[in-house]
Amino acid sequence: MLVIMDPRATEAEIARVKERIKELGYQAHPIPGANQLAIGVTGNQGTEDRIYLEGLPGVVQVIRVTKPYKLASRDTKPENTIVDVRGVKFGAGNIVMIAGPCAVESREQTLRIAQLVADRGALMLRGGAYKPRTSPYAFQGMGEQGLEILAEAREKTGLPVVTEVVDPADAPLVAQYADMLQIGTRNMQNFTLLKEVGKLGLPVLMKRGMSANLDETLMSIEYLMSHGSKAVVVCERGVRTFGNHSRNTLDVSIIPAFKRVSHLPIIVDPSHAGGHRYSVVPLALAGVGAGADGLLVDVHDDPDHALVDGPQALLPDDFKELMAVLGRIAEALGKSLGSPPAVDSERS
Ligand code: PEP
Ligand code: MN
Repeated sequence: MLVIMDPRATEAEIARVKERIKELGYQAHPIPGANQLAIGVTGNQGTEDRIYLEGLPGVVQVIRVTKPYKLASRDTKPENTIVDVRGVKFGAGNIVMIAGPCAVESREQTLRIAQLVADRGALMLRGGAYKPRTSPYAFQGMGEQGLEILAEAREKTGLPVVTEVVDPADAPLVAQYADMLQIGTRNMQNFTLLKEVGKLGLPVLMKRGMSANLDETLMSIEYLMSHGSKAVVVCERGVRTFGNHSRNTLDVSIIPAFKRVSHLPIIVDPSHAGGHRYSVVPLALAGVGAGADGLLVDVHDDPDHALVDGPQALLPDDFKELMAVLGRIAEALGKSLGSPPAVDSERS
């Protein structure tokens, strides 16, 4: 259900509606709009529940949301949501570049690459301190030490940091260091993890499961949002198909389909989609052409010795070239690449 409040509704009237929702045993999710407040209601079972809210002062209308995903749906919030990560805005008609190594391998490697991508126009830094690896014998990430290194890289470059949470138990720790929490493709339906990450309230970058359809993707966002996330960005990173020429198949068709039904931003990861350096730039451009609000790209200055995913990492010069081409494409699309947030060592 969606409760539409009168633009002139008083604080007391709004508080009363929220209280009533709670009394009914449901959860209230205030959704500020351009002109008026809407309050999403989750947990309700039947349409007749509407009558308990319809007569309250300040309520204009109570609408039934028929989709199984409510908070992620455009039915609930028709206008686009702008996700703000320490001043970097997703979904504001721009193309946000997030770049960095696949994994934090050492302090020197991460600080070096962070500076390289910052100098070339990235707005955010990526890098995994906890790595979900197919092999239990492969490098699993530096853990908390890796998080400390990412925080130092943020301090030095001013770039906000996105990093993956693999285990629900680590989520509060990762949240102490990161500006945005990443859910990996393998964990998109790890509902315990989604609930824990949702509760932390930080912006989330949720990767689409490698075999998840649109509805499943939306339901996972719903897990995050119903537990507290207000700001979720989805990332298309390729799905499993019969093709064996690339690591995954980048499904650009999900971008317009997603935007049609959801108000949230969607970005593309061409690195994990293609799996080869030569395909990263073409896939990045395809994503942007299909309407992506940003890109997540692996960059490494010594990919032959990278501990994770070296073959798909762009070299610093490739990355510079990608930014130059993107600048021209952004202009043609009437979008911008944005400028980096001011260097600020304090987290807000
Ligand atoms: C990553 O971005 O570091 C990653 C592991 O990607 P994915 O979850 O898409 O495989
Ligand atoms: Mn990777």
